[in-house]
Amino acid sequence: MTRSEIPFFPPDLFEHDRKVMLDVIQDIGRDPRQKFILGEHTRDFEEMLRDDLGAGDVVACGSGTAALGLVLRAMDIGPGDEVVVPAFGCAPLAASVVEVGATPVFADIDPRTLVLDPASARRHITHRTKALMPAHMFSIMADMPRFTELAASHDLRLIEDSAVAQGAVLNGTPAGLWGEAGVYSFVQVKSFGMPGEGGAVVTRDPALGRRLRMLRNHGQQERFVHQAVGTNSRFDEIQAAFQRYRYAGFPGRLERRAEIAEHYTERFAPLAEHGLVAPPPGRNGRCHYVYNVLAEERDVLREYLAEHGIGSHVYYPLALPYQAAFLPYAPADERWPNAEHASARVLALPIYPHLTDAEVARIADAVREFVRHRPRAAAPGVPAS
Ligand SMILES: *Cc1c(COP(=O)(O)O)cnc(C)c1O
Repeated sequence: MTRSEIPFFPPDLFEHDRKVMLDVIQDIGRDPRQKFILGEHTRDFEEMLRDDLGAGDVVACGSGTAALGLVLRAMDIGPGDEVVVPAFGCAPLAASVVEVGATPVFADIDPRTLVLDPASARRHITHRTKALMPAHMFSIMADMPRFTELAASHDLRLIEDSAVAQGAVLNGTPAGLWGEAGVYSFVQVKSFGMPGEGGAVVTRDPALGRRLRMLRNHGQQERFVHQAVGTNSRFDEIQAAFQRYRYAGFPGRLERRAEIAEHYTERFAPLAEHGLVAPPPGRNGRCHYVYNVLAEERDVLREYLAEHGIGSHVYYPLALPYQAAFLPYAPADERWPNAEHASARVLALPIYPHLTDAEVARIADAVREFVRHRPRAAAPGVPAS
């Protein structure tokens, strides 16, 4: 049997839809109206998402990062305000807060689910705290029922970074609708990724939606009449038309991701005592954007997989408070042990929907082989809590 490479980032994500992609470019490119941003395709895309979710409004914008920034601005969060964010995650979680002049305050994560720990978040609330910004991470939604309570009991805004969790549902409520505002990212690698940059804010609150619409387009409601200082974060018509077409296949692709995750989790269950911990099984509040295991010998495993033609990826090798960019927001005497623990062990395995069953089995086999051939003293992947 020839061993083909299984890349972590597949180069053929849009292969099936290439003809549609080119047709859309032709159609919009030849349309006499020559409307390339914020036209009818964007409006139809927003309305489709809004109606499907049962949201009050969906506002398409330049990226997931831009969506977070727009939400913070729309809530008038700025200098003197603190926003509690997870210590483990992607840079926009902290950078979006810094960008509006507010201060990100890092709270630790849960060691197993890798999402913001509500108890740690609570300990970081001060009289300056304006908002909580939990993020759904990799394949697991944050504990939104507890964050909803925490926000209500402390009179805080609740911003849901659901950039990776489009399509996930926790206790019957879709990711994005738990917070006063949630965000989605459509960058290529995300579950509903597209060939370019884009994002959206979703909210139940139509008034917040109107304010976001104004802010994404230079603070104007009417042309050249500026109600507020906004920004340029508009959406592309070609991408909107392409995403509308691709939306029909999205549930099927998500289901395939869930199946792959289930296969891995089942096959990895016996490895927990041997230093390799899979995410907890289950479907409630799960999104399957990235499948991360916690491996005691992460770097050796990664090399072993590469030798066997299997790509993997480390999200994220360094927790946010230890990044040079965010040191000014990380108190020198504080540590985030669970975030540190995770950053030394996380390894993401391929999970894109067009992996074949044989490829999925080959990846799971390789991980099991690695663990079997490297017997170590029992090394739990999760610190005792
Ligand atoms: C990808 C991501 C973002 C940013 O989205 P972009 O579209 O890449 O700007 C924000 N938060 C999380 C948790 C993400 O994974």
